Amino acid sequence: MIVYLINNTYNSSVAKLNDRSLLPITKSSNLIPHTYITPLLNRHYVKPKLKSQLIKIADDINSENNKHKLSYLDANFPFIDGFPLLPHLSHKDGRKVDLSFYYTKDKEVGNLKPSKSGYGHFVNPTNQEFNQTRECKSNGYWHYDYTKFLTLGSREDLEFDQENTKKLLNKIVEDPLTQKILIEPHLKKRMNLSNNKIRFQGCHAVRHDDHIHHQINE
Ligand SMILES: [Zn+2]
Repeated sequence: MIVYLINNTYNSSVAKLNDRSLLPITKSSNLIPHTYITPLLNRHYVKPKLKSQLIKIADDINSENNKHKLSYLDANFPFIDGFPLLPHLSHKDGRKVDLSFYYTKDKEVGNLKPSKSGYGHFVNPTNQEFNQTRECKSNGYWHYDYTKFLTLGSREDLEFDQENTKKLLNKIVEDPLTQKILIEPHLKKRMNLSNNKIRFQGCHAVRHDDHIHHQINE
């Protein structure tokens, strides 16, 4: 913990120089890390305006249902622009953050986690839905689903909470600061989302039916 604090004090000063702030890590906030590995590895830095937006959305969500917080995954390092946070090549300027979907268990809601890391446990397309992963892999993008190896442990007893994930997505896209969000096409269709800020990331990236990629304007 001490090493973490010293490390973060140092990184906070670096971050200030680079117009980055730390996302909250305490349970008293409505914006929480999905896993504490994220702040331990300094992967929770964003531009101050993105931090304020996320806190506002998190508070809003919690005021509607106090069992829900907003859970973040990888954001950015505190360093200079252009330093990517692998494996997310675009997370390099403080404007990007990944967010968790919501899940339920026996109709009970909350910040439930099908995967410990927050990545690699997919909300697969049904047989009737378009299968982007099959399409990308058949076109040679073998890496498209490699995050399945990065779960750090997963569970199969949770159900995708379509209603609350849709509510979250709508709150994000309705905010003028939001530039775009990325999720898989079958989920956009399944949730009946039509806002053109919600896009497909392309086969060169990894599949986005395990998390939301969110980014703000310059
Ligand atoms: Zn991302």
